[in-house]
Amino acid sequence: MCGIVGYVGRSQAAPILLDGLGKLEYRGYDSAGVAVYDGGAKKLSVHKAKGRLQVLSDMLDAGAAVPGTVGVGHTRWATHGAPSDVNSHPQVSRSGKIAVVHNGIIENYAELKAFLQGEGVSFVSETDTEVVAQLVEYFVDTGGVGLLEAVGRCLRRIEGAYALGIISADEPDRIIAVRKDSPLILGYGQDGMFLASDVTAIIRYTREVTYMDDGEAAVLTRDGIQCYNTFMQPIEKEIAHVDWEIGAAEKGGYEHFMFKEIMEQPEALRHAIFPRIREGEVYFENFSLTDDYIRGLKKIYIVACGSAYHAGVVGKYNLERLLRLPVEVSLASEFRYMDPIVDGGTLVVVISQSGETLDSMAALREARRLGAKVLSIVNVVGSSIARESDEVLYTWAGPEIAVATTKGYSTQLAVLVLLGLYMGRVLGTVSGRERAEAAAELLALPEKLEKVLEQRDGIQYLASQYFNHNSIFFIGRNVDYALGLEGSLKLKEISYIHSEAYASGELKHGTISLIEEGTLVIALGTYEKLFDKAMSNVVEVKSRGADVLALTTGDRRADMEKIANGVMTIPSTHPLLLPSLGVAPLQLFAYYVALMRGCDIDKPRNLAKSVTVE
Ligand code: GLU
Repeated sequence: MCGIVGYVGRSQAAPILLDGLGKLEYRGYDSAGVAVYDGGAKKLSVHKAKGRLQVLSDMLDAGAAVPGTVGVGHTRWATHGAPSDVNSHPQVSRSGKIAVVHNGIIENYAELKAFLQGEGVSFVSETDTEVVAQLVEYFVDTGGVGLLEAVGRCLRRIEGAYALGIISADEPDRIIAVRKDSPLILGYGQDGMFLASDVTAIIRYTREVTYMDDGEAAVLTRDGIQCYNTFMQPIEKEIAHVDWEIGAAEKGGYEHFMFKEIMEQPEALRHAIFPRIREGEVYFENFSLTDDYIRGLKKIYIVACGSAYHAGVVGKYNLERLLRLPVEVSLASEFRYMDPIVDGGTLVVVISQSGETLDSMAALREARRLGAKVLSIVNVVGSSIARESDEVLYTWAGPEIAVATTKGYSTQLAVLVLLGLYMGRVLGTVSGRERAEAAAELLALPEKLEKVLEQRDGIQYLASQYFNHNSIFFIGRNVDYALGLEGSLKLKEISYIHSEAYASGELKHGTISLIEEGTLVIALGTYEKLFDKAMSNVVEVKSRGADVLALTTGDRRADMEKIANGVMTIPSTHPLLLPSLGVAPLQLFAYYVALMRGCDIDKPRNLAKSVTVE
């Protein structure tokens, strides 16, 4: 789930490992550790600490105190065993000779643990990961084989999702890397080789990387890397060049990544939209879904988790409107087990910022197994979901570091609209004039969003009035309802205020009983077609004592002001794009509320950036 870094080379390893782990801190974690081979003492030195990486770094004088040029490091997001020093990684074998860092879950760990215990092996941690360290050592000892062969045997026994980095005091010139369903990247540096779960950890040292595929292993030595396929046969892998700026993954003067990423949205949208519009038409380079295939479609299924799912809900409204095709939207964690009605006539659209979300990945595989083609909308180039899809539309938002997504979500919305216009042309359901109008509005979107972001001081003021509420409702209809889902999630995930999003019309079927004097209701009324209905719902909650903060278009400000306690506005735009503008004030509101409540905005409690466990 969290971070892995490894280094084997000519430089001191521990400072590189700690620096790399620092770059992965954004992913959310609860403890950290490193294991380095100490050539003088001829053994592994292992250092671990619960809590922030700073604790470990202070203990080790930023790594200077740990000699050695080969090592692995980890930030843990506990799944098996509470966050504690002993459960932190690296996990070591009973002799202390083998150290393992692991992201993911070993599903059959209990059975393997029982087997090893039966063989006299005792365990010190509650983790599933310790099983790997002990099992590898067991195979080395009982089989008289080298580390790579022992890891190979271990892989045949373990089930689940894992990225592993393994070192041994008996073969101190190498790191063994393995991946299945959890990302792992190999880096080629001037004075050594790198291993990381995310390219941000090593971009300071190298831009030449190899993305490992599922089932592959690699042996890293200081002069090179040898990769192996599932059958442990040597293979050649492509080396890719990472071209984004180092600064893109740094705060650049902003107090929080989340704020920086909110402000970067206009630029991110330019990247996502501009290269894809030519003379008023949407154009996708090397798009493999043929016109005939699109014309044969019976249904679209959007599958995603979290904010990407909320983008999918907006997508459902917009795509059905444009294509007159049924569009279902499903949570990936539900889709994979619900025996979905999917076949060759269904296009499954998987949305994921990281491209590594395990549930979405599993849904993708299920969809393909059922005969559907998968089109993914992904931010991270080369990620697992991107690579396993039939076609990918990248969102090109640049690295997103804050756990709470902002530019990831808004670029997903834009790409869904682009997809709708593209398919609408092929299907003949959107006229040339409509397409040209929408394309023009798409091109104007970044600038309009800049105007919205300029209103941030006003939104900060509103946040200062409401930040101490303990329960907040978001209400809206149609795309405003879909937008409310995301606004509510943004607020609760970073400010820890309980909030719910409701379709306005549904309110009186139960939830209105929770509205009382002083309850805050955020009423979304940007969708002009249903503005009057939105107003009626505002009156309804007002008359039951609620405070109402409204979001509407500039044209409707005066109407809203007559009744709401506070009003935020966005410029008018094409109805398809309303949530793309409307989300920004809600992101800013959540941000300022969390700031005023003293929350850890970039790393909200219990959350991780890319959820690579089920
Ligand atoms: N399942 C392992 C543990 O709980 C690894 C968790 C992680 O990915 O950080 O220790």
